[in-house]
Amino acid sequence: REGSGGWGPPPAKYGGRHTVTMIPGDGIGPELMLHVKEVFRQACVPVDFEEVRVSSDAAEDDIQNAIMAIRRNRVALKGNIETNHNLPPSHKSRNNILRTSLDLYANVIHCQSLPRVLTRHRDIDILIVRENTEGEYSSLEHESVSGVVECLKIITKARSLRIADYAFRLARETGRAKVTAVHKANIMKLGDGLFLQCCREVAGGYPEIAFDSMIVDNTTMQLVSRPQQFDVMVMPNLYGNIVNNVCAGLVGGPGLVPGANYGRDFAVFETATRNTGKSIAHKNVANPTATLLAACMMLDHLRLHSFATTIRQAVLASLDDEATHTPDIGGQGTTSGAVQSILRHVRTASGWSQCS
Ligand code: ATP
Repeated sequence: REGSGGWGPPPAKYGGRHTVTMIPGDGIGPELMLHVKEVFRQACVPVDFEEVRVSSDAAEDDIQNAIMAIRRNRVALKGNIETNHNLPPSHKSRNNILRTSLDLYANVIHCQSLPRVLTRHRDIDILIVRENTEGEYSSLEHESVSGVVECLKIITKARSLRIADYAFRLARETGRAKVTAVHKANIMKLGDGLFLQCCREVAGGYPEIAFDSMIVDNTTMQLVSRPQQFDVMVMPNLYGNIVNNVCAGLVGGPGLVPGANYGRDFAVFETATRNTGKSIAHKNVANPTATLLAACMMLDHLRLHSFATTIRQAVLASLDDEATHTPDIGGQGTTSGAVQSILRHVRTASGWSQCS
């Protein structure tokens, strides 16, 4: 079972069922969401989805409607919304607007070696906690004089303490032994220096958990050479983005790793590396693992642990059959073939019971 860091009150439930906002997103998002719905239906999961379409090129109203729906339901499952970097600077990433508006300050991903997925390293089991609301993603840039752009990285004491405390609480909740803070305080002495100092301060309140720190460049080298040394990692926003992608690559790629964004009041679940996968959309080749495991993290957050466990075990068990592996992990299988195999495991686990 995943630690969710969901320390708030339990999400609303009406007539024994939860309502969750579903944002299919662009690229492979919509097709993968259809598979989530089918798996939930066959596993008798008591969740209804309220679907809200948000497209990257539509007016900002779309994302505001989605945010309102999440405020209502408090929980969402989403695909990635494409951010075209050729659009003008006034066009803000829809994904970023959503995370900052809902103050989803902690991005958490779990990178774990999976059965039968061939990778250079084995026995990886890392929880990465990324500050999700400030740092390099403050969207504060300007051209002060022609040819000179200033791009502001904001690090605040309050938010650094908040994310450090989140990481340590998650470590405690999941029985982890060590937290590593990742930084570049040798160059950004004030900004990253403050982040590191906050992590040290919070570490003092968790004497049973070891604390160390590592400069981000060394971290990426250590990750690709000896990833097993890491347990829980905590870092500012952009380093988190890069380290998340490195770690996802280490365990088999973007199609395998789930992610979550938690705030005090809301939680949004998506894949760890937030890809749109536009180039493989509608081809029935996307790996459904990351999205289905993100849906399992969501079920744990909703305290529907037995459903989360059934589906997670079905996803992992179906990876045992290499015939169902999709091309991203070296197979020749299809998305629907992988999902059919997962559904067989779900039905076996639930004894072919019909939903009451
Ligand atoms: P875009 O056209 O939006 O830039 P892309 O497909 O070129 O998208 P990303 O969305 O950034 O790139 O994805 C990075 C890589 O990861 C791509 O090669 C994509 O096909 C692959 N990928 C992402 N998600 C999955 C998945 N679920 N299954 C298989 N491959 C995936």
